[in-house]
Amino acid sequence: MTGKAKRIEQAAARKEVDDLFALAAKVVRSEPDGQRLADRYVFLARKLASRNRISLRRYNRLHCRKCSCYFTSKTLRVRTRTASVVYACLRCGHITRIRKT
Ligand SMILES: [Zn+2]
Repeated sequence: MTGKAKRIEQAAARKEVDDLFALAAKVVRSEPDGQRLADRYVFLARKLASRNRISLRRYNRLHCRKCSCYFTSKTLRVRTRTASVVYACLRCGHITRIRKT
C-alpha cells in the first residue's frame, strides 16, 4: 500500500489507538476486573500501532512498553531525578526515563 491509501489507513489506525487508550482509562477505574481489561486494550493498541507504524510516544507515561500494562498507582512508581523523571513498571520492572525540559 502506498500514498493516499496508506495515509488514510494510518489515520484510521491512529484513531483506533486513541479509542483503545480512552477505553483503557475508563475501564481501569470503573470495572472490577479493570486492570486486566485495560492491559488487554493496551496490548491491542500496541499491536495496531506497530503494524501501522504509529508512534506511541504520547502514551509513554500511560503504559509499559515492555509488558503492555496500563499504568495506575498500583502498577507504576514515579521518581524524579535531576535531569529526568523515572517511571518504573511495578509488574515487570521496566524503567522509562523521560528527560525534563
Ligand atoms: Zn511492565
